[in-house]
Amino acid sequence: MSILALDIGGTKFSAALFRNGSMTRRETRRTDREGGREWMLEQLAGIGRRWREEEEFTAVGVGFGGPVDYAKQQVVLSTHVGGWQGFDLPGWLRAEFGVPVRMDNDANAGALGEGLHGAGRGARPLFYMTLSTGIGGGILLEEGVYRGADSYAGEIGHLNVRPDGPPCLCGSNGCLERMCCGLWLERDYGRTAEELMRDPAFVELYVMDLARGLKAAIMLLNPARIVIGGGISKAGEALFGPLRTELRRQITSWSRARIDVVPAALGDDSVLWGAYELGLEAQETMEEE
Ligand SMILES: [Zn+2]
Repeated sequence: MSILALDIGGTKFSAALFRNGSMTRRETRRTDREGGREWMLEQLAGIGRRWREEEEFTAVGVGFGGPVDYAKQQVVLSTHVGGWQGFDLPGWLRAEFGVPVRMDNDANAGALGEGLHGAGRGARPLFYMTLSTGIGGGILLEEGVYRGADSYAGEIGHLNVRPDGPPCLCGSNGCLERMCCGLWLERDYGRTAEELMRDPAFVELYVMDLARGLKAAIMLLNPARIVIGGGISKAGEALFGPLRTELRRQITSWSRARIDVVPAALGDDSVLWGAYELGLEAQETMEEE
């Protein structure tokens, strides 16, 4: 019995099949933003149908790149691609494939993936942050993902780290995402995040804003560990060394909260592993009913 795992992002999307805790198939494609929702649904249906001819799957788990109403299992919206507002993606997938489906936002899925299979194993509470096209956060407790009263817990990307900073797409100013995510780094500096992270002088300034955001997570949650995933986290020690130093400088002097900040261990697959766990949950819930 296999599980189909989907990671749907604004820049790229991935699909994978998992069987007995191993990934058996994986495919990544660029997201056609112009194509919007319909294009994405065609892609997902195509991959699912093709794989199914060789390997049947019994549930689907989804990590979606945008806010998700977990209780209603609906996409609230995609911050980068049109047409997703209020969409019942699990319902659509259920109709397409005839199997149970469970969806969460990609940061919560990433927290599940890293927390159960990656750099956050055994570390609870775990704070996971994705640092890529955008910035998202997920909180993983002993009992599972902490989503808050309305599914909006962990949204660290829109804390105002520079209240007098440039306008963010969300309507506010100087948000952590506005100052630190890949999309804006490219727009502001005309260089990719990957190039910028190789410039120590840039990183020294960059970690000041990044640490302001993470300080909030540390002061509020006192996590046992912070795992950072997403493309920018691949910069490794060139980023994490200066980041830890800056966090130590910024954290309130009397706080003894640990500063344990590490890159994701699952690379580009944190969200897929989390989606696999969501798929397993969907399957178990159905078996109970
Ligand atoms: Zn914002």
